[in-house]
Amino acid sequence: MLGTFSIRELHQKIIKQEIKIKDIVEYYLANIKKNQVKFKPFLNVFDKILIKQMDVLQPKIGVSRNLPLLYGIPAAVKDNICIENTVTTAASKILKGFRSPFDATAIKKLRENGVLFLGKTNLDEFAMGSSTENSAFFTSSNPFDSRLVAGGSSGGSAAAVALNMAQFALGSDTGGSIRQPAAFCGVYGLKPTYGAVSRFGLIAMASSLDVIGPLARNLDDVFLVFDYIKGTDVQDLSSFYPKTPAFVPKKDFKVCYVKEYFEGCDERIYKRIFSILESLKKENLIVEEVSLPILKDVLPCYYIIMASEVSSNLARYDGIKYGSSKLKSSKNYFKNLLDLYLDTRFEFFGNEVKRRIFMGTFSLSYGYFEAYYLQALKMQQKIKSEFAKIFKTYDAVIGPTTPELAFKIGEKSQDPVKMYLSDIYTVPANLGGYPALSMPVGFIDGLPVGLQIMADMWNEPMIKNIAGYIEKIIK
Ligand code: GLN
Repeated sequence: MLGTFSIRELHQKIIKQEIKIKDIVEYYLANIKKNQVKFKPFLNVFDKILIKQMDVLQPKIGVSRNLPLLYGIPAAVKDNICIENTVTTAASKILKGFRSPFDATAIKKLRENGVLFLGKTNLDEFAMGSSTENSAFFTSSNPFDSRLVAGGSSGGSAAAVALNMAQFALGSDTGGSIRQPAAFCGVYGLKPTYGAVSRFGLIAMASSLDVIGPLARNLDDVFLVFDYIKGTDVQDLSSFYPKTPAFVPKKDFKVCYVKEYFEGCDERIYKRIFSILESLKKENLIVEEVSLPILKDVLPCYYIIMASEVSSNLARYDGIKYGSSKLKSSKNYFKNLLDLYLDTRFEFFGNEVKRRIFMGTFSLSYGYFEAYYLQALKMQQKIKSEFAKIFKTYDAVIGPTTPELAFKIGEKSQDPVKMYLSDIYTVPANLGGYPALSMPVGFIDGLPVGLQIMADMWNEPMIKNIAGYIEKIIK
């Protein structure tokens, strides 16, 4: 079965000419056709462009030596990552029909290594949300039960991977948007160290927290794709990845779990994660409890910093520079620019986006800046340094990815604060800049459970090492 192979296995089959790139692409396109109506992971599928690209790639097989491992591998891409000359909407009406003039750096790197792009996946508008219900177009469903959410904001990417509609997918993570949907859909999702992957060509949500990362059905694929997309990039001055690894593989790693992470967590998830921690102990690994009372401040801190950056980043959608505009659609004569801005933004932004612009503008405004934004920045430093202390003693922090299993579509959409609570375990990695993986560790009542492994900056290899170990013991 094609969908069960890893990228390395597919690569062997491609270069030995046991399989054609066309067969792999057709397999995924057939699955897209089969599942799109029910689960709706994709916003746009590139069938026509693909055929041309396949014709360019296939003739090199058997002729060129040392073809990259990703050569001929089909991927899905979250629709807030730019692919040259294709529509990129960030699931917003304000960017409807916007064609990207360039490739994001991550896309360029994949393209240079022979990756084929199947299409763009659904998300919450501008990546703001935890369920894809904030998409301006439609909601994607959970692969295990179409009445439930796929998670978000990279819900389309996670569902596409889980439903065998792509070999891997790219997502973006600002507060958990790769890991939470990966957990809900039973796939692997890596949020890299902040800056490890260039943000050039990623539509900005909160620039100091945003990062692009991979989702896939197996551990090796996730880290393989990460290896191809990571690296310092002149187009993004906040990007950096050390050339020499910061990590020496070791078997006797030391991990901890945070006591407060289990408060308010679904008891069934709690038990599942604990049984894995117990198994690690039985293997004579050091597993210890730490306490982080600061965890209660994580969400307020994130929601102030994120919203402040959102309000500033989204100021560029003014009806002039990009996408939709009231100028084009109305017969109105605008007496001044402000009216055009207001009308455009009022009409084309969704409610959640407006809410966050509103919150962010408030916390940055004169008289409130010191009381909110500045306090949140101070708190962020505290949170980061609490984790830095932990990483002096431990190689990783292990815990649940989410406090609950996938929830019903509509269950939280009327209560934003309830929705925000689903980010409690994932947000610390973004505030600190640390890398974190969500890996599937079984099912409860037919729904997947995600375990999160968080490590020190640029220590993705340690995460892979520990995840591989956990895989062996739970098999
Ligand atoms: N769910 C979080 C939010 O709504 C995270 C979003 C993200 O990581 N892009 O902000």
